[in-house]
Amino acid sequence: MYLKLSVIAALAAIATAAPSTTTATGAPAAPSSAPSVPAPLIPLPPFSGTLVGAYPPQDKIAPTDTPLVKQWLQELNLTAVATWPVVPFTASGAPQNPKAIPAASCDWTETGCINKDMTTCPLGVWGLTYDDGPTVYSGKLYDFLDTTDQKATLFYIGSNIVQNPALARRACGAGHHIAVHTWSHNPSTSLTNEQFVAEVKYTEMAIKELCGFTPRYFRPPYGDIDDRIRGLLWAMGYTNVIWDYDTNDWMMAPGGTRTMAQVDAAFAQWIAAAPADKTGHMVLEHELYQNTVDAAIANLPKVQATWKTMPVSACMNDAHPYLEKNITLATMNGAKTGVDNGTNNSTTSTAASGAGSSATGSAGSSTASGTTSHSTTGSGAVANVAVPSVALLAVAAVALGQMMLF
Ligand SMILES: [Zn+2]
Repeated sequence: MYLKLSVIAALAAIATAAPSTTTATGAPAAPSSAPSVPAPLIPLPPFSGTLVGAYPPQDKIAPTDTPLVKQWLQELNLTAVATWPVVPFTASGAPQNPKAIPAASCDWTETGCINKDMTTCPLGVWGLTYDDGPTVYSGKLYDFLDTTDQKATLFYIGSNIVQNPALARRACGAGHHIAVHTWSHNPSTSLTNEQFVAEVKYTEMAIKELCGFTPRYFRPPYGDIDDRIRGLLWAMGYTNVIWDYDTNDWMMAPGGTRTMAQVDAAFAQWIAAAPADKTGHMVLEHELYQNTVDAAIANLPKVQATWKTMPVSACMNDAHPYLEKNITLATMNGAKTGVDNGTNNSTTSTAASGAGSSATGSAGSSTASGTTSHSTTGSGAVANVAVPSVALLAVAAVALGQMMLF
């Protein structure tokens, strides 16, 4: 989750953040060193350097009047999709009238309502996720993940994929779990059925063209989802993923209010509370800015020393998180990353769990803060647990120049 441009523009102190921090050219900023990139574990399709698909403009809501979208809509059976109305949002990125959102729509943004969403991993497991990539900062993160043989779930924005195709291919080939985070990073419930389908399918198309596989996992920008959007996702074959721990690293945007020390402190608090954990976690981080990547790198070793750290597909023991079932990603049950080409000569290596993944969140007798998942409606008054409505309050507070501590 991060503030979209219109939100940030509304905040006097925050001037430059954008849904895509990548440049128009997509040229990655050169890392201080250039480690060699390991050979892909997942074979990639040929790529000339230029995408051939007919993609819509970047960072704008995907159009619905193209032949492709019409075809996609024709192929889908949407008869079971709930008919909750589109939620109007303000220019600053908040629902115009939150109280008008029907409770029965199971809107997570306002109520924390969950319906078949993934929110946590099993006890002792940390679901490692990075949103909003690929960006010019992603290479540094991927380099670091390579050094610890660590895989993560990467929720990609379609517009960023087409701006940074080489980074997307690198992550796909490395065996990271690639998932969809819409085309333009608008709140899902603010989109019509047709717009939402277009947002998902164009992103899916870019991943398929560059990586050769079709993602099946989705995370809504801002966690904004209701049963209408869930119905659309299910019709398209997707699993929805939220989170239970939010680093709020996105608030370190240029001119933002959150400091690296505060992000570090959140990790430290979660680690200190781990012995009393009653569940594992699914954690929201971003490959969005230089400082979010730096925070991710600084804290990952400590996380790895405390939990078994893996992509969300692995924590669900889903060896086949893509439509193409010949592709296997690592699981907790020992599946190895690779591709079965019909000759049973799968590429091997790289378990999902990273180095130092021996610690367990042993059952404790007392409940520590930050261990509650969004399993019930309206949950989320626990410190450091993501609650979108609280985040929106934070926006208001930031606008007032107040200090927010998460
Ligand atoms: Zn996001």
